[in-house]
Amino acid sequence: MTSMGEIRVQPSGWFMSGLRYISQLQRRWGTRAPRQMYRMWRLHRTSFDEILENVFAALEPSDAKFAFPTVASVARMKPELARSIEREGHEVASHGYNHVRYPMLSEAGRERDLALSLQTYRKLGIDISGFRAPYDRYTEDMPRIIDKNGLLWDGGFGYQEEHREKTHFFRVESESGSLDTTFIPLNILSDDLMIDGRGWGRKEVTAALKTQVKKTASSGGVVMFDLHPIRMGQKEYAPCLGELAEYAQEMGGWIPTPREAVTYWSKHKRWKSDHGFCLLLTGDIDNWVFSDYLRRMIWRRG
Ligand SMILES: [Zn+2]
Repeated sequence: MTSMGEIRVQPSGWFMSGLRYISQLQRRWGTRAPRQMYRMWRLHRTSFDEILENVFAALEPSDAKFAFPTVASVARMKPELARSIEREGHEVASHGYNHVRYPMLSEAGRERDLALSLQTYRKLGIDISGFRAPYDRYTEDMPRIIDKNGLLWDGGFGYQEEHREKTHFFRVESESGSLDTTFIPLNILSDDLMIDGRGWGRKEVTAALKTQVKKTASSGGVVMFDLHPIRMGQKEYAPCLGELAEYAQEMGGWIPTPREAVTYWSKHKRWKSDHGFCLLLTGDIDNWVFSDYLRRMIWRRG
């Protein structure tokens, strides 16, 4: 005779590997992993077509431009989305070929990933002038690698503490002199910090960004924000972009693509049409859909 108590349930293979997986993630992320995954799953319920539409629509009234550093292996999956960015007059930049921490790669690995991203975009017929490393993680050799690849601007190296507060573009020295690439300071206020980290709503996000813009207006320099479309392109937050652009213009600001801003500044050492300062709106695209996000987490490539 058997009773329920004697039945031993053998955990199946997928169940065990699932458990291993979760504990692996927890080791890396602590208890934030499940919550962050749930957040990303919720955000990805809005399709990226819609997210981009929302960003374009928010910026259209002020004709403000936006740059999207996009992971090249992701862009390759839906090239029509990347092309729609260009078609709307915005800019696509490289965010690496894979969304990996560059400091974890060898020097040759870093060079390979960056070069492969540029080659991928060339094949897609998408014009790339700028770069931002995944997770804003740089090594000391990166400025030289970026410069060697002929990139006009970089928008992530300037996130480091010693550059973040700068009010103007800056150059990086190498042994053989100043590199040609223009490096752009990146403001600390990102959407993940404000929305996920501090739990701010639309009003608080807009107010905080406006404060930074006001500060930039008085310096006559430039401010760049990383506002990921996955959050800022949601219906709830996209209006922040419109409000911010409108505010910056009222203050006399210019909101071009980084490509245009860097090209113009390099030549004239002032902002176009005598604008008082420059606002650069950018936001990385790491995945189009949740399953890509999940896959990256699973393979620990992110
Ligand atoms: Zn990223």
